[in-house]
Amino acid sequence: MYLPGVGPKKAEILKRELKIVSFEDLLYHFPYRYVDRSRFYSIREITGDMPYIQVKGKITSLKLAGDGRGKRMVGTFTDGTGTLELVWFKGLKYLKEQIKPNENYILFGKPSRFNHTINVVHPELDKEQNGKVQFFAGLQPFYNTTEKMKSSYLGSRAMFKLVQNAFQTYNSVIPETLPARITEQLKLMNLNQALRHIHMPPDAETLQKASFRLKFEELFYIQLNILRLRNQRTFNLKGHIFSTVGQHLNRFYSENLPFELTNAQKRVIKEIRRDMGSGHQMNRLLQGDVGSGKTLVALMVMLIAIDNNYQACIMAPTEILATQHFESITEMLKGMDIQVGILTGSTKKAARQELHSRLQSGELNILIGTHALIEDTVRFHNLGLVVIDEQHRFGVAQRARLWKKNTSPPHVLVMTATPIPRTLAMTTYGDLEVSVIDELPPGRKPVETTHTYHKKRLGINKFVKEQIDAGRQVYVVYPLIEESEKMDFQNLTDGFEYIKSVFPNNKVSMVHGKMKPAEKDAAMQEFASGKSQILVSTTVIEVGVNVPNASVMVIESAERFGLSQLHQLRGRVGRGAEQSYCILMTGYKLSAETRKRMEIMTATNDGFEIAEADMKLRGPGDLEGTQQSGLPFELKIANLAKDTRILQMARNIASDILKEDPLLEKQNNAILRRQLKKLAQQKMNWAMIS
Ligand code: ADP
Ligand code: MG
Repeated sequence: MYLPGVGPKKAEILKRELKIVSFEDLLYHFPYRYVDRSRFYSIREITGDMPYIQVKGKITSLKLAGDGRGKRMVGTFTDGTGTLELVWFKGLKYLKEQIKPNENYILFGKPSRFNHTINVVHPELDKEQNGKVQFFAGLQPFYNTTEKMKSSYLGSRAMFKLVQNAFQTYNSVIPETLPARITEQLKLMNLNQALRHIHMPPDAETLQKASFRLKFEELFYIQLNILRLRNQRTFNLKGHIFSTVGQHLNRFYSENLPFELTNAQKRVIKEIRRDMGSGHQMNRLLQGDVGSGKTLVALMVMLIAIDNNYQACIMAPTEILATQHFESITEMLKGMDIQVGILTGSTKKAARQELHSRLQSGELNILIGTHALIEDTVRFHNLGLVVIDEQHRFGVAQRARLWKKNTSPPHVLVMTATPIPRTLAMTTYGDLEVSVIDELPPGRKPVETTHTYHKKRLGINKFVKEQIDAGRQVYVVYPLIEESEKMDFQNLTDGFEYIKSVFPNNKVSMVHGKMKPAEKDAAMQEFASGKSQILVSTTVIEVGVNVPNASVMVIESAERFGLSQLHQLRGRVGRGAEQSYCILMTGYKLSAETRKRMEIMTATNDGFEIAEADMKLRGPGDLEGTQQSGLPFELKIANLAKDTRILQMARNIASDILKEDPLLEKQNNAILRRQLKKLAQQKMNWAMIS
C-alpha cells in the first residue's frame, strides 16, 4: 500500500489475486518470459504470424470507429516501408489524450493479418529517445497477471513499473540468503543482483546467471528441508529390527517359489532386508514396471516380518485388486502355516468381527485389503510391515494412519507401477528411499504397439477376430473423463453394442465405474475366467488386473489419454506367453503433442523412458500420479523437467552440508536455519511429501 503506484485499492487486488502483500512478495513474482527489445523490424518485413515485433515510426491518423460495444480507436502507423493498422478497444480516452500524431514512437505488439492489412491490436507505444525505448534497457519482462488485475490497470507493464518503484523505494542492498561458502563455491550471483537482473536484465547472459542463482536457491532449500526431515525421522524413530531369516521364508524359497527370482527382484529384496534390519523405520518406494513381479517381492518381505513374529498387511486401491492379491498370495502360500485374511468394504459384519479378533489375538499373519484397513476399528496385535500397492491412489495422510497402528511405526513399503522420473522422485518422494525393479521376468515378449486411425476399424476388427479364433482375449478401452461424462458414456455403450454386432459369436462383457461393485466384479470375473472373449471397459481396468490370456488391447480415442495412463493400460496385456498387441486408435487430426505421444508409445515399452518423456511434454505438475495432490509446493522459477542439473547440484550440496551437521545445529548454519524457518511459514505443505 505504501509503494508508489499502489495505494489501498490496488494493494487489495494484489493481495487477492497474487497473494502479494510485501515488497519481497512483489520481487519474488518473477517474469515468465522476456522479449528482446534490441531488435527492430521495418514494416515491409512483417508477416502475420510473427510472435512480437518492434517498429520505429509515426502515427499518421487516429480516429474513433463504431459505437456501443463495437466502439474502438483505429490508427495508421507507418515507417516509410509500409503501414500497420492499429486497433484499441479499451482505454480510448487515455489514448486520445496521450498519443500525438506525427511524433516518433516505438511500437511493440503482436501482428496479425486481416485480408490485406497487418493489424496490431492493443500495441504498446513508447516515445522514442535516442532511437531506444527508454523503458527497457534490454529485455522486456512479462508478468503473469489476472483478468481482474488487467481491468484495474495492473497488467504486465504496470507490474514492471511497481517492481522498479520497489527497487527505488527500498534502495539498499537486499541481504544474502545463501551462505557465502555456497555462493563462492558455485560462483553464484548474489541475491541482490539476481533479483534486480531477473526483472531488469540488460542482456541474455546476465539473465541466465540471475535465473540460475534463483533456481538453485529454490531447489536447494527444498532439498535441504527434505533431507533434514529425513534425518530427524531416522534419529527420532526407532524401527522394529527384523534380524531373523526364519523358517517361513526358507520354506517358501525352497518349496513354494514357482520360478527363479529375477536378479532385480533379488537385489530389491536385499535392499529391503537391509533397511528392516537397520534399527530405523523403513520408508521405501518400490518402483517396478507393470508385470515386473512386485507382488512376489512384497510377499517374501512379509514372510521376513512373520519370521520375526510380526504381522504384515497389504493395502490395495480397489476391491478387485485386493481380491486378486488375496487369491494369488493364498495360492503361493499353499501348504504353509500362514494365516491370510481379506478385508474390504464389502466384507460382511460377522466375517469382519471374526477378522478383527483374529487380528488382535495375533492369529492372523497377513491382512490384505482396501481402504477399509485404515479404519480405527482395525487393530493389530503387532503390526511390523505395511505394504501399499499402487501408491498414487493413496494419500500421504491415509498412509500416516496406518503407521499409527502400532506403538512404534511399522516399516512401510510403497509399491508403484507408475514410474516417477528421478527428479520428481527426489522432490515429491524426497523422503523415501527408492528401489527399482528394472527387469522383467524372462520369456516375456514385449508388447507390439501400433497407432492407427478410427477409419481403419475394419482391418482392426479382422485382426481381433483372428486373435480370438486363436484362443486369445481382447480388451477394448474407452476414455471416460468427467467433464464430458455423458458423451463418453454414450461412446462406451455404443462401442459395446457395436462390438457385440461385429462379433455375434463371442461373449462380450462390459465394465465401467458407474456399475455397482458386485456387477463390476461379476463382469470382470466373466472375462478373467475366459467365459467372455472381449472386455469393453473404461480405465477401471487400468491398475493391476491380471488376465494372462488377454493378448490385445485396443484403446479408443487414444489421443485423450496421457502417456503414463496409456502405458498402464498397455501393461494389461503381455502377461502370458503369447505375443501381445496394443492398438492405439485416434482421429486423423492430431496436435503435435499428441502425435509425439503416439510415437513414444510405439517406440518404447520402457516405463521410465515414458515417464521422462511425459514430464518433458507436460511439465511435472500435470504428471499423473501426482495430479491429485499436485506438487506439494509451488515452484516460482525452477522447473523439475528442465532444471535437472541444477536440482542434482542442489541435492548434492544439501546432502554434503547435512553430513557435517545432520540437524543444522551448528553456528555457521544459522542462515540456513533461518531460511528454512521462513519457508515453513510460507505454508508450503511439507506434510504432503511422502
Ligand atoms: P506387478 O509388478 O505388475 O505387480 P505382478 O507381481 O503381478 O507384477 O507379476 C506379474 C506376473 O509375473 C505374475 O503372474 C507373477 O506370478 C509373475 N512373476 C513374478 N516374478 C516372476 C519371476 N521371477 N519369474 C517369472 N514370473 C514371475
Ligand atoms: Mg501389482
